[in-house]
Amino acid sequence: MHDNKVLIAGAGIVGGILGKILKQNKVPFQIIEKEKGYRANPNRTVALTKESIVFLNSLDEKMDLNEWSTPIKQMRLYKDDTLNLELSSDDYEKLSSVCSLDELHKKVFDGIEEHICYGENIEKIQSLKSKVLVQTDKQKHEGGFLFGADGINSKVRSLLNFKQEEWFYGQKAYVSKVEAKHKNIAHQYFTKSGTIALLPYDKGKEYFSIIFCTNTTLDPTEQFQDYVKELNININLTTLDNFEGGFDLKHQRVSKMNYEKILLCGDAANTFHPMAGQSLNLGIGDTMNIKENLFDILMSKNESHHQYNKKRSNKNIQMTWIIQSLHGAFSNPSFIQDLIIGNGMKLLNQHPKIKEKIIDYANRN
Ligand SMILES: Cc1cc2nc3c(=O)[nH]c(=O)nc-3n(C[C@H](O)[C@H](O)[C@H](O)COP(=O)(O)OP(=O)(O)OC[C@H]3O[C@@H](n4cnc5c(N)ncnc54)[C@H](O)[C@@H]3O)c2cc1C
Repeated sequence: MHDNKVLIAGAGIVGGILGKILKQNKVPFQIIEKEKGYRANPNRTVALTKESIVFLNSLDEKMDLNEWSTPIKQMRLYKDDTLNLELSSDDYEKLSSVCSLDELHKKVFDGIEEHICYGENIEKIQSLKSKVLVQTDKQKHEGGFLFGADGINSKVRSLLNFKQEEWFYGQKAYVSKVEAKHKNIAHQYFTKSGTIALLPYDKGKEYFSIIFCTNTTLDPTEQFQDYVKELNININLTTLDNFEGGFDLKHQRVSKMNYEKILLCGDAANTFHPMAGQSLNLGIGDTMNIKENLFDILMSKNESHHQYNKKRSNKNIQMTWIIQSLHGAFSNPSFIQDLIIGNGMKLLNQHPKIKEKIIDYANRN
């Protein structure tokens, strides 16, 4: 039993999972959220790895992700309109599963809503010997520990001067959906202006959830429709929903995730381009590590913070390397690069063992 209240900055999915872990372990906690309530994102989906799904189901049996998420059984990667790589394996029941961000948020926060202080913007943080003080625009909170789970523009990170590196892609992400017989196959196109992901998604009907990343300022609907024609994508555009979002994409990574009685997790510590569908999965990986060592971490025992930082930073550096290489290779490649990438993926396609290794890696948080 841990008597000191634990503070969590941010009521995103990662903050909610931390709340669930603390509740399970009977640790008192408070979540501080700047929005006045949950802000819905109707067309946002996330693809969760098998490891994330098993972990979330283990936290709360009502989560039951296998019941309502949509499994991806195959992933097809295209360089423009040429199919270069198909990822699927008989050994794997599914690569990952797609679920609505809103529905996931609802399930994660079920049972912990009363712990959230909505409409409080964090303005000042003081880290003292035995406590952490968090001053918001409404009141002062005192806790024995603080988790910074306040997302891509984390205030915890900036107020405490965590060192970080940032990489701006000059792209925005827009989301939408379109009715489609998806056959549980995900498609990812690497185009000149960014990536287009079509993820199988069931919600009453079958849809493709669309994540359209672009570096142009053109109207996303018109641009997407042009791409559908250019790349011969087989969807019925009359059922296309409005594009929402316009999320500015950046990659950022802190060089150290811990400071005194404060740990950063989720997007506050690392944010990636959505092309690999990994940011939330890695954030869930952070919470898995915290759950395993919860009391050591809360009491700053046995080098637990150092271990957390080392393990999670290693994983994030590997993922950074993969995503930055993919981004570098696919954004504006020359003719020669084009040939190498296309042929390289085709070559990979002929090697089931290597493909299984890729699937295995992509499914570990
Ligand atoms: C289009 C798109 C598609 C994506 N697809 C995938 C995918 O398929 N798979 C995947 O793994 N990831 C995906 N991601 C990434 C994933 O959505 C994020 O990694 C994840 O939602 C981050 O969760 P979080 O809880 O860390 O942060 P957030 O969800 O950003 O939550 C942070 C919370 O902190 C609050 N907050 C911020 N500042 C303050 C403050 N000063 N005071 C109090 N509260 C504050 C915010 O209001 C927010 O509620 C995608 C991202 C995008 C943009």
